[in-house]
Amino acid sequence: MRRSRAFIPTSKEAPSDAQLPSHIFLSRAGFITQVAAGLYNYLPLAKRVIKKIENIVNEEMVKVGAQEVELSFVTPADLWAESGRIEKFGKELLRFKDRKNNLFVLGPTHEEMMVDLVRNRVTSYKNLPLNLYQIKTKFRDEARPRFGLMRGREFIMKDGYSFHATTEDLDREFDAMEAAYKKILTRLGLDFRVVEADSGAIGGSGSKELMVLADSGEDTIAVCSKCEYGANIEAAKRSARATIPEAPEAEFNKFLTPDTKTIDELAEFFKVDPYYTVKCVAKRVIYEDESEIVLFFVRGCDNLQEVKALNATEALDIVDVTEEELAEIGLKPGFIGPLDQDKAKHVIDSDLKGAKNLICGANEDDYHFIGVDLSVLDDVAYFAEIAEVNEGDICPHCDGELSFTKGIEVGHIFKLGTTYSKPLKAEFLDENGKSQPFIMGTYGMGVSRLVASVIEQHHDESGCIWTKATAPYMVNIMISNIKDEAQVAAGEALYEQLQGAGVEVMLDDRKERFGFKMKDAELIGFPYTIVVGKELVNGEVQIFERATKTKTAVKADEIFEKIMERI
Ligand code: ATP
Ligand code: MG
Repeated sequence: MRRSRAFIPTSKEAPSDAQLPSHIFLSRAGFITQVAAGLYNYLPLAKRVIKKIENIVNEEMVKVGAQEVELSFVTPADLWAESGRIEKFGKELLRFKDRKNNLFVLGPTHEEMMVDLVRNRVTSYKNLPLNLYQIKTKFRDEARPRFGLMRGREFIMKDGYSFHATTEDLDREFDAMEAAYKKILTRLGLDFRVVEADSGAIGGSGSKELMVLADSGEDTIAVCSKCEYGANIEAAKRSARATIPEAPEAEFNKFLTPDTKTIDELAEFFKVDPYYTVKCVAKRVIYEDESEIVLFFVRGCDNLQEVKALNATEALDIVDVTEEELAEIGLKPGFIGPLDQDKAKHVIDSDLKGAKNLICGANEDDYHFIGVDLSVLDDVAYFAEIAEVNEGDICPHCDGELSFTKGIEVGHIFKLGTTYSKPLKAEFLDENGKSQPFIMGTYGMGVSRLVASVIEQHHDESGCIWTKATAPYMVNIMISNIKDEAQVAAGEALYEQLQGAGVEVMLDDRKERFGFKMKDAELIGFPYTIVVGKELVNGEVQIFERATKTKTAVKADEIFEKIMERI
């Protein structure tokens, strides 16, 4: 491609709301333009990167025997009612009616559509397993679209779905898909980690996320210092504490504790470790057509993990409550405890099951109970794992310590089981001629988010640094002075030669200053720029390597071989 003809509207200015390097540089370097919140145009450079990612995905999918399809973007709302997800997905679903008043949904993911495609078409175990995938635009009316391609409303996803006769076969496929996804990310040149995940709105069990490690990641992941264990903080587990602080032994009693509302104040007042205090987090829990206040209790040294809380209550959403709302049911923040079960529904963290020597609110202004033995609640209260793991907690698999790091979720694979096949009545005849719902897996990968992820992991103050597998063009030939006939001739000849060898090459033939063109090349992030400049009279050109910003002089008549070696 000739740079003079290319549509690459680079700019010095980043969009005013751009915070992340990928958003700033992809915009400034002319890869994307914003249309509206969460909606982007992909310009020629971005299309090339996307195609490269798609090609790698396709190659790896072929290797594991998955077949590509493409299902309609517009999906009938009836299907979403059949699975029950029309409510669960809530406002993220963009709904609309056609001229005949039929309700439709723009596909945010395609489980229902894929099940509908396969049901009544695959009817025997003999035709299983089956793995179908597509690479397709998705639409989710995200509450807070942000960070450019990272969290768009319209985005590209590779979504795959597998159908099996047995759970063993699903397990095999799941492992094969995990391996394929790792291969894809490795080929893209990304540093990543596979972590255990929450199953979210889609449900099911056996869920893993592929996280590209980057400080800007929206997800916190807990990783073990010793073994391979890694998990999204939403799903991370821990072992029981290795050392337990000395217990404050006391007879059960009610104690006047004026102005002792926070855990810190309470621990200070009684001179105890927060481990022995009980923290109450009151929330309003939203169900399909009602809501209620739920009191969540964790140890004072822990925090509530909202996704775990959501799963424990099987709710659609969890929101904050005000002091007034609590006052209406006779509760005052700072003094709420779990012993009095009838003011509101309780969920108590499983780490508190049978716990003794505790201090908790007495559900009375300015009073706490001491010497509390929670085993009295063993048979009456609802216990669930709702606490968030902390840094320094013990790994659930070994005796290593957990620490936190940030990741970008670029892939999510999970075992759905019969979550969709059952409600949608998608069945096959097993070996005994018995009708069974398909056992399914689902495998998502954020293709447009991957574009941004490459830049989050590979950039510097000057702009993008594409990995070899993702670069829109591998080589940029820069003719330093376009009025110099020898430079033009040498640049053009090399351009022809590289194109002939199948190298993706850009020829910067613009009548611009050298410094301007160089800045532009750095911003776009071509892995190599060959500068054909003043030194040509001495038979030399230069190779500029973007990642290291190093320049190497090379004999002009050896440049073709030298660049071929590098790429
Ligand atoms: P997130 O937790 O980031 O909202 P999700 O768990 O809702 O994502 P999935 O339903 O698992 O996402 O979708 C599969 C993949 O699609 C994700 O792993 C991610 O890479 C990508 N993806 C999801 N939402 C978006 C979005 N709004 N913009 C870009 N990519 C997205
Ligand atoms: Mg996910």
